Amino acid sequence: MTAAVAPTSLPPLSARVGAIGGSPVRDILAVTARPEVINFAGGLPAPELFDREGIAAAFHEVLERTPAQALQYSTTEGEPALREALAGRIAGRGLPTVADDLLITTGSQQALSLLATALLDPGDTVLVEDPCYLAALQVFGLAGARVVGVPTDADGVDPQALAELVVRHRPKLLYTVPTFQNPTGRTMPAARREAVASVAARHGLWIVEDDPYGELRYDGAPVPWIASFDEAADRTLLLGSFSKIMAPGLRLGWLRAPAALRRACAVAKQAADLHTPTLNQLAAARYLDVLDAHVARVRAVYGERRDAMLAALPGALPAGSVWTRPEGGMFLWARLPDGYDTTALLPEVVRHDVAYVPGAPFYAADPDRSTLRLCFVTQTPDEIAEGLRRLAKGLGGGA
Ligand code: PMP
Repeated sequence: MTAAVAPTSLPPLSARVGAIGGSPVRDILAVTARPEVINFAGGLPAPELFDREGIAAAFHEVLERTPAQALQYSTTEGEPALREALAGRIAGRGLPTVADDLLITTGSQQALSLLATALLDPGDTVLVEDPCYLAALQVFGLAGARVVGVPTDADGVDPQALAELVVRHRPKLLYTVPTFQNPTGRTMPAARREAVASVAARHGLWIVEDDPYGELRYDGAPVPWIASFDEAADRTLLLGSFSKIMAPGLRLGWLRAPAALRRACAVAKQAADLHTPTLNQLAAARYLDVLDAHVARVRAVYGERRDAMLAALPGALPAGSVWTRPEGGMFLWARLPDGYDTTALLPEVVRHDVAYVPGAPFYAADPDRSTLRLCFVTQTPDEIAEGLRRLAKGLGGGA
């Protein structure tokens, strides 16, 4: 017989995790999992456009030709074939880059975690766009950082406000999604990027330039990366991802950073997952040969879907609402008239089998509660029109 052991309570979770709480987006997605819901809340690429055959062929070829390499452990920095091909792609878009400048990551979300580990101590201040990508807020919160929102206008971060906040808070970094931002769909023009680079250089600040959407442009001309401006060259971490142009399930992203910071991120990655799956990296390197043709197909379809949403919005939102007209990406941002609270309205809207993401959680502080985010790429134009008819009813208007 074993002696009875008095039950004891378990030690608590870490303070960092306890302070963060759940993800509001996850809660909303749970509500909208019913198949009859037209879900404008998710940020999901259209599944019917995944190039199943092309990706299968790339995996097959890698497993046929180099099975011992493809199924083996790899280096933390990433497979040379993928790093080289990617470097060529980035250089081709005007930013001189060699394979050694890159660290392959398990989605760009991991790049955010790695740079937080490499750069932030608890109590450090981080500046973010207000509103900001939700999961970036979560990463910085988990790192114990103090997150301060920088005011934005139609062109993104306000450089004057940025300069004042840098002086007041002495932050370590600015996090920005300058092209087709999540959640607003806005793009920072070149002059604004240069002004942001200049503030960072003058005041000693890292810039995290997160660009998962840049290749999804439906009209207008490409804008150079912040990283390509002289004043930003030594202080910008550029993050990229294959999630929106290839497939998010591959979990492939990359980070381009000055050498010392990139090495620190590699140490953090070693502790996190040793390396990104070898097989996925090699297959993606193969698939890069046909990626441009695939992205062109995706762009054409997504552009039509954006137009369908823009065409139907005037009839769907209450009079006096305003919204962005993104030149690319996946999201647009709407502001309903004063007095509307999109968080409070969501349950009634979901009863009409349609969903959006309320704007409030995207703000670091002082949310504008009349805002919301809509994803326009996941449904067909007909479904978008039907979804917006339901939204009109859910918001108390429409027939
Ligand atoms: N950054 C931004 C701005 C995003 O919108 C997303 C995905 N929604 C990510 C990073 C993460 O993407 P992934 O990890 O799939 O590359």
